[in-house]
Order: sequence, then C-alpha cells, then structure tokens
Amino acid sequence: MRLAFALLLALVAPIAGQAPAASATEPALTYVHAGTLLDRPGRPPRRQATLVLRGGKVEAVRDGFVAPPPGAALIDLSDRFVLPGLIDAHVHLDSDAGGYAGLVEGVQDSPAAVAFRAAENGRKTLMAGFTTVRNLGDGTGATLALRDAIAGGTQVGPRILDAGVSISTTGGHMDGRTGFNDAFSAAVGQENVCDGVESCRRAVRTQIRRRADVIKIATTGGVNSGTGRARMAFDDEVKALVDTAHMYGRKVAVHAHGASGVNAALAAGADSIEHGTEMDDETVRLFKRAGAFYVPTLSTVNGYIERLAANPNAYEARVLEQVRWRIGITGQSLRRAYPAGVRIAFGTDAGVSKHGRNADEFELMVKHGMTPAAAIQAATVNAAELLGVAAEVGTLEPGKAADLIAVAADPLADVTVLKRVGFVMKEGKVVKE
Ligand SMILES: [Zn+2]
Repeated sequence: MRLAFALLLALVAPIAGQAPAASATEPALTYVHAGTLLDRPGRPPRRQATLVLRGGKVEAVRDGFVAPPPGAALIDLSDRFVLPGLIDAHVHLDSDAGGYAGLVEGVQDSPAAVAFRAAENGRKTLMAGFTTVRNLGDGTGATLALRDAIAGGTQVGPRILDAGVSISTTGGHMDGRTGFNDAFSAAVGQENVCDGVESCRRAVRTQIRRRADVIKIATTGGVNSGTGRARMAFDDEVKALVDTAHMYGRKVAVHAHGASGVNAALAAGADSIEHGTEMDDETVRLFKRAGAFYVPTLSTVNGYIERLAANPNAYEARVLEQVRWRIGITGQSLRRAYPAGVRIAFGTDAGVSKHGRNADEFELMVKHGMTPAAAIQAATVNAAELLGVAAEVGTLEPGKAADLIAVAADPLADVTVLKRVGFVMKEGKVVKE
C-alpha cells in the first residue's frame, strides 16, 4: 500500500512541478468587423459592429467599424452575418453508424479506434459552426478523453460536456445486452445498468468517478435498442438517479419517448427531456414547474430515412418498427410544447444522424413551428443555460469566450444558411475561414 502510494507520488510529482505553458507576451488583440452582429440571440441584431477580442474572450462590442490600434489584428467580416458559436446539446461523437452496422462496430472496434473516430467527428462538428456540444453517452470513455484533449489544446474540436456512459435499468435502452444470448451478455460489463435505489445511486456515482460533467439516464425504452417507448424505471429509481446527480452538482438529461417516462423524469426534477416524443397536458405543466428544457432531436429522422434509403435492411425488425413510429410522429411534441411556452434547447442526437450536419436541425425546428430567431436562441442562449455554461458561451458579450461564426446571408430570414458556415472562431482562434 505504502509502496503504491510512493510510486503514485513519483509519477505525479514531476507533472505537478511543471510550470504551465503561459505565454510571456500580452494576449493578442483582435478586432472583428461584423456586417451584422447577432451578439445576443433573442434580441434584434446590430448593423455594422466591431467585436474587440483579447485573450480568447470578448472584451467589448462597439457600434460601427472601429479601426484597430497599431499591432492589433483585423478580421474583416463586414459583408457577413456574425453570431455566437452554436451549441448542440445532444450528440454522440463516438459513432454515426446505426442498425446492424452499429452493432458490428460495437463488438469489433477497439477503444483506440473509437477515439480516432470521435476526434474526427468532433472536428466535423466544429467546422459546421458548433463550438460547444454535450455528448450524451458513449460506451468506451473516448469522448471523456477527447474532452480533455480539446480543452488541453492538443486536439481541434468543440468544447465538450460529457455524460460518460448513459444509465438505464436492466433490459432498458442502455443495457447493451438486451436481445443477446446469455453467453454474450455474461461477457459484457454493464456498470451503467441499475435496478432499485442503491443500485441507481451507485450507477450515477460510477459516472461521477469517471469525471462525467452531466448524467444521462433513460426512463423509457428507445428506438435504436428496439425497446420502444414504454416506461422502464420506477419513480424511486428515477428520483435516486436525479437526486444523486444533483447532489454532485451534475445536471440530468433524460432520454424518454412515452409520456409516462417523460412525466416521471420531470416530476423527479430532470433538467432536460431528450426526444420527448409523446407528451400530454400534464407534461407541459411539469416542464414549467421543473424549469426543464425540451431537446427535440428531430434530426434523428434524417438519419433513419437516409440509412434506410441506402440499405432497406439496415435495421432488424424490432428496431425498424420503432424507427417507422418515430419517423411518423416526430415534430408533434415540439408543436405542442413550444407554443405552450416550454423552453427549447437545440439538440440533434448526431450519431443517429450525421456528424457535421447538425444545422439540419434548424430547418426541422422551423418546419415544426419555431421561428428562425427562436431556433437560433435554442442553439445559443438556451443551450448554454441548459449546459450550465451561460457565463462562458451563448452570447457575444464582454467576458464571454470568443466563440463566433459567420454566414453569407441572414439566418433570421432563412435559417438554412446555417448549413453553410464559412467562418468559425473558437476561443479567439480562427479554425475555419
Ligand atoms: Zn442520443
């Protein structure tokens, strides 16, 4: 024991002794001329404005095109529409295979292979203008490592808030053994599966131990697992999961399709409902009481339709049945929740749909009743609040991160221009121009 501790110290001491790689020079000062600037989504944009950026943060926002002082850099976006970097509150960077292909990948690929794929998907996501994402579950921990590598500056990608492995009950949506034979099941570790209060507390603590930023749970079955929309957790299990996460200061994202599972999650104090495919009148009341966000993940339908077009046999029968149900019903809940005043946060479930095409969600949000302005607000200020990072991102105000994107036309008039983001800056560094 003592030897192990000494060994640990010997390993850690040299790292702790290293000086941080701080720059000796004053942080670079950059002026950005924006033809139109939506610095605070939800409010009207400014015409002709200058963003003053220093040390990766916004220092000031000024009216007109202000000339930079000597030595400062100028980025000319005077013919562009500039807005904060976008936020996707629901992605799975570790994959975008689905159906049978996803199953094969899940048993063939090494954690190292998954990590390379996650890094590439992260890069695609950033280039699409999404400077922050919430990764809601991967099986290997690859995105936890990617989160740290990006934060440490050794990988290029979006800021990641990561849920570690998603949690469900035995036989539920996140039980990777569901539908497989006992020999296979016995070989699969499932620390993320819980039954009963103690077990569910432990499942959350296991993800806390792995340094998850947020906890993802399922109260119903799901589409891709073929477990459907039915309720799959008791009230005391849902409450144990939510209370444990909250005790550790972690928010809880809840995968739920059927109204019973949605309502149980909201009653227990969930912070967001993911998918929320079926809702009733009670749901809207519970959303408001909990102050929770609805994350519609409409893009999943694009993923299903495209995958089936490429291969009609992409899914096994029990999954295909759920896929057809979801294609038919998607959008109904947004049409109910948004006009009733439920707060919406942007999330695609990319992984089911393609990484880098996150902005397709905007088009679907508008198709199902949101204005472009509200959809952009969902992907900036609302998502930042849901993720608990509103002090850093979501608007371009003094003190916030210099995360910004530019497009060639006005997304408040035509939201689909966000599918073609020409310029991306993250923390003051230009990553696409
Ligand atoms: Zn998901």
